Amino acid sequence: MSSPKQRKPKASKPQTPLWKYIEKLEKHDGGGNNRCRCKFCKLEFTGSYTRVRDHLQRIPRSGIEICEAVDSDTLEKLLKIQADADAKAIGVDMQSIPLPNVENYGLIKRKGDGGLGELFNMPARDKLDNLIARAFFGCAIANNALRSPLFREVIQFACDNNLTG
Ligand SMILES: [Zn+2]
Repeated sequence: MSSPKQRKPKASKPQTPLWKYIEKLEKHDGGGNNRCRCKFCKLEFTGSYTRVRDHLQRIPRSGIEICEAVDSDTLEKLLKIQADADAKAIGVDMQSIPLPNVENYGLIKRKGDGGLGELFNMPARDKLDNLIARAFFGCAIANNALRSPLFREVIQFACDNNLTG
């Protein structure tokens, strides 16, 4: 058994959806940890959610045995449940982010207008704006990341380059 490594706490509230696969037994006196039992393999352990998650997701890092009863299909489900919960915790549901009128980009036609560059460039720029805005919300980029010179360089590159062709 190795002692668990120190990890920095995450800024967002930890999501603990996998507790529902764990049976909670009686609480130890004064301790913060619950005695609990995995509903899949019936392993009993004393643990925090980190250990629950590592056990169910078969991650051998908390000094807890990985779950022998979780097959790859179940594992995939468990990972998704955790990922969805984490995404909701930062207020983002990736599926619900609208990208309006995406099917019209590049298809807009104007009668009597020979300016192909303008015809294609403008929708592309609109789309770029949308994609950048979507990426900001989707990834919940912290404000200090937006101020980073590296990030600015990306935006600058996108803005400076002619998007035609
Ligand atoms: Zn188990």
